[in-house]
Amino acid sequence: ADTAPDLAPHTPMMAQYLGLKADFPDTLLLYRMGDFYEVFYDDARKCHALLDITITTRGQSAGQPVVMAGVPVHALESYLAKLIKLGEAVAIAEQVGEVGAGKGPVERKVVRVVTPGTITDTELLADKQDAVLLAVSGHGRRHGLAWLSLTQGEIVLAECSDTELPAWLARLSPAEVLVNREAQPAGVMKARFPVTNRPSWQFDAGLGQRKLCEQLGVAGLQGYNAHELALGHAAASALLAFAEHTQGRALAHVRSLRVQRSGELLDLPPATQRNLELVQTLRGESSPTLFSLLDSCKSGMGSRMLRQWLLHPKRDRGEAIARHNAIAALQAEGYEPLRDALKSVSDVERISARIALRQVRPRELTGLRATLQVLPQLRAVTPAALRDAHAAALNPPTDILDLLERAIALEPALLPRDGGVIADGFDADLDELRGIQNNCDAFLLDLETRERARTGIANLRVQFNRVHGFYIEVTQGQVDKVPMDYQRRQTLKNAERYITPELKAFEDKALSANERALAREKLLYEQVIDALITRLEPLTALGRTLAGLDALAALAERAATLNWCRPEFVAQPCLDIEAGRHPVVQARLAETGGAEFMPNDCRLDARTRLLVITGPNMGGKSTFMRQVALIALLAAIGSYVPATSCRLGPMDAIHTRIGAADDLANAQSTFMLEMTEGAAILHSATDQSLVLMDEIGRGTSTFDGLALASAIATHLHDRTRAFTLFATHYFELTEFPAKHSMAQNWHVSAVESGEDIVFLHELQAGPASRSYGVQVAKLAGMPASLVRQARATLEALEARQNAADDQFDLFAAPPAPPPLPEPSALVQALDAVDPDALSPREALEALYRLKKLA
Ligand code: ADP
Repeated sequence: ADTAPDLAPHTPMMAQYLGLKADFPDTLLLYRMGDFYEVFYDDARKCHALLDITITTRGQSAGQPVVMAGVPVHALESYLAKLIKLGEAVAIAEQVGEVGAGKGPVERKVVRVVTPGTITDTELLADKQDAVLLAVSGHGRRHGLAWLSLTQGEIVLAECSDTELPAWLARLSPAEVLVNREAQPAGVMKARFPVTNRPSWQFDAGLGQRKLCEQLGVAGLQGYNAHELALGHAAASALLAFAEHTQGRALAHVRSLRVQRSGELLDLPPATQRNLELVQTLRGESSPTLFSLLDSCKSGMGSRMLRQWLLHPKRDRGEAIARHNAIAALQAEGYEPLRDALKSVSDVERISARIALRQVRPRELTGLRATLQVLPQLRAVTPAALRDAHAAALNPPTDILDLLERAIALEPALLPRDGGVIADGFDADLDELRGIQNNCDAFLLDLETRERARTGIANLRVQFNRVHGFYIEVTQGQVDKVPMDYQRRQTLKNAERYITPELKAFEDKALSANERALAREKLLYEQVIDALITRLEPLTALGRTLAGLDALAALAERAATLNWCRPEFVAQPCLDIEAGRHPVVQARLAETGGAEFMPNDCRLDARTRLLVITGPNMGGKSTFMRQVALIALLAAIGSYVPATSCRLGPMDAIHTRIGAADDLANAQSTFMLEMTEGAAILHSATDQSLVLMDEIGRGTSTFDGLALASAIATHLHDRTRAFTLFATHYFELTEFPAKHSMAQNWHVSAVESGEDIVFLHELQAGPASRSYGVQVAKLAGMPASLVRQARATLEALEARQNAADDQFDLFAAPPAPPPLPEPSALVQALDAVDPDALSPREALEALYRLKKLA
C-alpha cells in the first residue's frame, strides 16, 4: 500500500483515473473520454512508442502537466490487435454512469481486460489457431498445468516433470502463460512465450479444486479422474481466476474437463516439432509445412481441430482407427458434397463461446443461423456411420434455429446499438415503435384530413419542426372556427399554431420512438442471448462435431488427391513402409515441375532396429528419415499416409537430432547443443521410440565426432533398442552392422556417369561407396586439377585405413575401469567415526585426532 498514489492533489478526473490504474499496474489502461480512449503518463509514452500515436500534454494535475495520448473509439479494435500482437495486455475503462448525474466525473469501470491469451474477438484471433491460455504451477521438479482456449469450452489439466515442461510448452504453444510471481518456473521463463505474473495465493490447490467443481457443477472431480492432481488444481485456480478477471464474468461455457497424462501422448519433443516442420518451417514460416499441406479444411474451426490432432497424437490407437474408418467411409461415399455443405458453416465453436461471454455480434448470430439452416443438407451428405456416431450433436434443439429465424433480422447491422438487428414481427412493442417512425407521415396526413373535416377549416395544416415539434396551423382569418380542445402553441403574424391532446400524445411517442426502439432492441437482443445461453451445451457440441467432420473430410480429400494409403496398426514391434514419400518435398517437386519423387521402403522390426544410412550429401538421407517419421506421425493422428502400404507397431515417441543447415556457422555452441539434444534422446527413448540421428558428431573434430557417433549408435542399439535411423558421413560407421546384429547398412544411391554423379534418391541395401564427396565437388565446378588431387589423396588414405583396420576396433567393449585407489588414512579414520555414538567430549577428541591425520 506504500506505493498507492496520493490522490488528493489531483483533479477529480485524474484521481478517478489513478484509482482505476492502481488495480492494473502492469496493464495499459484505456480510459474512455467521449469519443476517445485516453492513456496517461507512462502508458501514454508506451503507446506512443508502440503505436506511433501522438503524445501531448494537457492542463495540470498535482502540479504536473498531464501527459496523454488517445485513440478514437471507432479505431479501438485495430489498435487492440496491434497491442496484443506485441504481447501487451490492455484494460478498458468505460463510462458506466449517466453523464452529468453526479457532481464529479462520470463513473467509469474497467469492463474488460484483453490479454494475448484471453482475446475472444473474432477479428483479433488467428483463424486457424487457438489462443491458448496456460497456467503453470509449482517449481523445481514437478509442475501442474491447466489450460483452456476461451473460445472453447474445455479445461485441460496435466502434471509433468521439470524436464518434460519444454515439450508441453512447445506442444501447446500458449499465447500467454500465467506463473506465480513468487515462484516463477525456470522452464517457462526460458521459453519465449508471453508471461503474466499472478499473485502467489491464486495458485492454491484447494481453491482450484473448489473452483473446478463450481465451474463444472459437480461435487467432486473423481468422475473426471482428476481428483489427485493437486498441482493441476493449483494451476486451474490461477487460470480460472485470471480468465474471469479479464472477461469480467464467470465462464458459462466452460463445462468440461479433461486430464492429459504424459504417457497418453506420442511424445513430440520441441526438437522434433521443429525438425519435422510440422506447423512451422525451420525459418519460422507457416508454409510449406506438414500442416499447411494437410489443412484443406473449409472452416477455421476445422483447421484448429486438425492442428490439435497433429500436435497431440495419442499412443492409444483407438481414436486413430476411428478416423481411418471415417476417411474410408468418406472416400467410399464421396466427401465433396460434405465439403460443399461445410462451406456455409460458420465458426460455431467461437460463436458459442462469444454467446457465453455475451459478446456475440448480430452477424455472428446470422452465421449461426445459416449453419443451422444448412444442417439437414449436411446430415444428408454425411456418411451414415459418421452421422449416427454424432446424431445428437448434429440435431441440436430446433428452438435455437426457430429463435434465430424469428428474432434476428435478415441482414442485421454490425452492432446492436445501431438498431435494425431484431426482425420485424418478433416483438409487438418494437414493431409499434418502428411503426411510429415509419408511419409518421401517414399519420399526419390522416390527422389533417380528419381535422379539416371536423373544423371545416379547408387550409388547416398539420406540420412539424425541430424547435416546436408537431402543430396544427390555422391562418388568422379562420381562427374563430378552432375547437375547444385546440391549445395555442405559438402565434405568428398571419397564423396561429395549436396542439391537441391526440397530437401531443403522438408527438411524445414519435420523438422518443427512435430512442425507445433502440433501447427495446438492446433489451431484446440481451434476451435472445439469455435464451441461447441455455443452449450452450448443444451449440458447443455442434461446433466440435462440425470441426471434426471438416478435419476428417480434409484428410479424406488429401488422401485421395495425394494418393495416400490407409495404415495398419499391429501389436508387435514393426515399422514397415512400402514406397513411402515425404509429402512436403514431393509436393514441392510437383509444384516446381522438377524430378519425380523417388519412393522408398523402410523395414524395421524386432530383429532390425537400427539402419546406418550413408551416401553423398544431397543424396536424400534427411528426406528419407523425415518421411519415415512423418508417416508414423500421420498414421498416429488418424490420417492416411504417403505410401503404398504401411504397418506400424506401438510407438511412444519420435525423437530427432538433426542439425540445422546454418549449424556449421557456429560449430562451437552447436556441438554443445548437439550433445545436449543427443543426451536427452538417450535418456528418454525406449524400445518403442523412433529415433532419427542425422550426422551426429558433425560439430566437432573428426576423431571425437566419430567416437561419439559410434558410442551413441552402440547405446541406441544395445541399451535403448529404439527404432533408429542413423545417417552419417563417417564411413567408418558402415562397419557397425557387422558387429551389431540388429543393425543394417543402407545407402542413398547415386550413379556415376563418367566422372559425374547423378542422385537417384533411392535407398539401397549396403554401405555407400566412399568417393561421392569428390564427385560432388566436381559437380559443383571445382577445378579439374583439384579434383584429381583429391581423388589421389583419397586413395592414399583408403590404403592406410585398410592397413590400420586390423589393429583398431571402433566398437570394442570399453576397457574395464581402473581399480579405485586405496582410501587415505584420514578417510579411513573418518569412516570409523559414528557421530551419533559420541559424547561431546569424545567428539572433540575425534576432531583433534582427524586434524592430525590431515
Ligand atoms: P542429404 O540429407 O542426403 O544431404 P536431402 O535429404 O537433404 O539429402 O535431399 C536433398 C534434396 O534431394 C532434397 O531437397 C530433395 O529436393 C531431393 N530429394 C531427396 N529425396 C528425394 C527423393 N526420394 N526423390 C526425389 N528427390 C529427393
